[in-house]
Amino acid sequence: MIVVMKLTATLANIKNVIDKIESSGLFTTKIVGADQTVIGAVGDTGCIDRDTLSMFDGVERILKVQEPFKKANIAFKPTRTVVDICGVKIGGNKPVVIAGPCSVESREQIVSIAKSVKDSGAAILRGGAFKPRTSPYAFQGLEADGLKLLIEAKKETGLPIVSEITTSRLMDIFEESVDMIQIGARNMQNFDLLKEVGKSKKPVLLKRGFSSTIEEWLMSAEYILNGGNENVVLCERGIRTFETYTRNTLDISAIPAVKRLSHLPIIVDPSHASGKSWMSLPLSLAALAAGADGVIIEVHNSPENALCDGAQSVTPKAFDNIMDAINSIQGYLSNAKDMISE
Ligand code: PEP
Ligand code: MN
Repeated sequence: MIVVMKLTATLANIKNVIDKIESSGLFTTKIVGADQTVIGAVGDTGCIDRDTLSMFDGVERILKVQEPFKKANIAFKPTRTVVDICGVKIGGNKPVVIAGPCSVESREQIVSIAKSVKDSGAAILRGGAFKPRTSPYAFQGLEADGLKLLIEAKKETGLPIVSEITTSRLMDIFEESVDMIQIGARNMQNFDLLKEVGKSKKPVLLKRGFSSTIEEWLMSAEYILNGGNENVVLCERGIRTFETYTRNTLDISAIPAVKRLSHLPIIVDPSHASGKSWMSLPLSLAALAAGADGVIIEVHNSPENALCDGAQSVTPKAFDNIMDAINSIQGYLSNAKDMISE
C-alpha cells in the first residue's frame, strides 16, 4: 500500500500517518520528493482500513500495490488448482460439463434427465433442492426429499451431484448428501455460509453475485480458502447490466481476468447468464474458447412445464447437440489452452 501525501502536508501529518501504519505492526518506507512525500506500507496491509487512513490530515490518496486476496491469488500459489469431485477433475486438461434441471421435481424427472445427460457426456449432475426464489409464492424446491432423489439419480448413473445450499443450518445434510456444494449468486456474500463451507472439505461451486466485482467474488473465495477448504471452483453466471434482452450479461472477460488473478478453476453458466435456452450452445462454446474449465447447463425433459427456469432449460436432445459442438472444438481447446491462460 502506498500513501501519497498532499503538497501541503506537514512533517507532523507525515509522522501521524507513519505512526498509524506502524501501530498495526507494519513497516514503512518514506520517499521524500522535491514537492511531495510518499509513504510505503510493507507487510500484510489487510489489517489497515484504507478509508480511515485516507481521513488523516495531509493524505492525498492511497494506492494499493497488491490484491487483497492472498490464498486465492496466483502470485501466492502459481500452480493451478484442480478440484476433484469423485474423480471428475475441474481445472485439468479437459473441460467438464455439469448438467441437469434447475430444480429436482420428481424421481422420474431427475433420474430420466440424469440418464440422458450422462449418455450425452455430462460428468456431473446438477439439481436444486433448496431454491432461493425471488417470490415466496414460487416453487421453493423439494428440500431434503430433493436431495434424496439426487442421491437416487447418482446411484442409477454414477454421476456425482451438485446442489445449492441456502443456509449454514443445512450444512450437515449437504455434507452427507452431495459431492459438491453450490453457493448461489444471492449468497455469494453470505459470509457466515462461506465460513461454514470453509470448514468442510467438500468441493464448493461459488457463483458470482449478480452485482459483484471480480475482486469481491475472489474475496468470497478467500473466505472459503481461509477456512481450510481449498476445493473451490468459481462460476461466472452473468451480471446485471442495462441490457434487458438477456436475463443477465455474460461477462466473458471474467474468465481471462480470473485466470490472470487466481489459481482457482472457473466454469460458466450460460443458462442463468442468458435466460434463453437457445443461447446455451453459443455461450458454452464462447466460454470454453475463452479458457473456461467447464460449463454448467440447465436441462429439462419438458422445459415448458418446468417448475423453475424453463425458458433457459434445454431439452435432452438440444443438450446432446451442445455436447457434440463442445466435442467438435476439443482440438482447438487443447491447443489454445496454454496460450489463453498465459
Ligand atoms: C441455479 O443454479 O439454479 C441458481 C439459482 O443459480 P444462480 O445462483 O446463479 O442464480
Ligand atoms: Mn436455475
